[in-house]
Amino acid sequence: MYSSSGDSNGYHQDNKQQFGMSQRDRVRRVRAKSRDGFGEEQKVTPCTEFDKAYFNSYAHVGIHEEMIKDHVRTNTYRDAIFHHQSLIEGKVVVDVGCGTGILSIFCAQAGAKRVYAVDASDIAVQANEVVKANNLSDKVIVLHGRVEDVEINEEVDVIISEWMGYMLLYESMLGSVITARDRWLKHGGLILPSNATLYMAPVTHPDRYRESIEFWRNVYGIDMSAMLPLAKQCAFEEPSVETISGENVLTWPHVVKHVDCYTITIDELESVTTTYKFRSMMRAPFHGFAFWFDVEFGGPAASLINPRVPVLPTVPSNNSPMDGSQRKKRTNPNEALVLSTAPEDPPTHWQQTLIYFYDPIDVEQDQLIEGSATLTQSKENRRFMNINLRYSSGGRSFVKESVMR
Ligand code: SAH
Repeated sequence: MYSSSGDSNGYHQDNKQQFGMSQRDRVRRVRAKSRDGFGEEQKVTPCTEFDKAYFNSYAHVGIHEEMIKDHVRTNTYRDAIFHHQSLIEGKVVVDVGCGTGILSIFCAQAGAKRVYAVDASDIAVQANEVVKANNLSDKVIVLHGRVEDVEINEEVDVIISEWMGYMLLYESMLGSVITARDRWLKHGGLILPSNATLYMAPVTHPDRYRESIEFWRNVYGIDMSAMLPLAKQCAFEEPSVETISGENVLTWPHVVKHVDCYTITIDELESVTTTYKFRSMMRAPFHGFAFWFDVEFGGPAASLINPRVPVLPTVPSNNSPMDGSQRKKRTNPNEALVLSTAPEDPPTHWQQTLIYFYDPIDVEQDQLIEGSATLTQSKENRRFMNINLRYSSGGRSFVKESVMR
């Protein structure tokens, strides 16, 4: 999924454009079939003005072009679909947020009997044309509406979705995948990706600090240090999406949150808190923290036994404080395909998300850096994320609050 911070994210666009859903639907409840066959009431998240603006932003071609041209992303999804071909052939699939329909078409190519391609954005109109032009209308059914609202009158074998935002959770689309899972997925069905992990690590980035901040100390021979407070505020107040390299990272990362797509609940995503401990592996100015994620395309094996029993995590569990002894890359005993957005891996359109301090902290080799991070969906707009970062090192403690909008 493409998502963008700053003013260009489309959320601030005028959204007078008609949206295919009536006001009534805001409070509508759908009947969802529970796994034991008894119906249960499922509350539908209302579609807010922010959501409408969000869907409008996906009606633009550029967003889809950027996602599709992200070959790491798109090829990994295609590989994952063909890797699990035996579970897709002859089966019913839902593509949650189909965009241009690309993943639905990959599933049809892999032999799916029927694919429900759902998107609330007007891009669904183009998806339908693409499907027709590829003679797949008998297999791929495009539904123009929210996953929370559309009706699919059968259980499905597979859910596929590209729902990941910056810092994994920005944009809050995972909730819609959970809704699709709870509405339609068969017992023992497959979810791609199967799990996701958000990481954080302390970073040093002297070049970035020099270019944006130190620059003002001497401008054509003029001391413009008076600009420093404004420059720091403008450069570092909000999270910054940029590509760093493994060399910027001061030590092994910490797992902020591990998401098992079979068992995660919407409530769990409202707020995520983790406490961490790092030991810097080098002496360096410590400029802030980087966040990135990976997702795995594992099979449904564990969920076949009981879909509500968590798959054994291949990583240390969430919230466990970790220090420099932890592994940089987790092992992958299932040999599942992984889509990684880590600094040491090939770049993707997600890049990494950096939270810079206004002033760097000089750390020595092995110096302890500890604190906590809390990521909370904004009350004002659940697509925004409030980030509360507490960090202590060398006897000094700090708090940084920022909003990713
Ligand atoms: N699957 C496509 C597009 C991914 S972008 C691809 O891989 O290229 C995510 C898409 O999900 C957007 O088009 C957005 O409009 C759609 N989306 C997000 N939340 C949704 C929801 N609740 N219901 C339907 N579509 C949704």
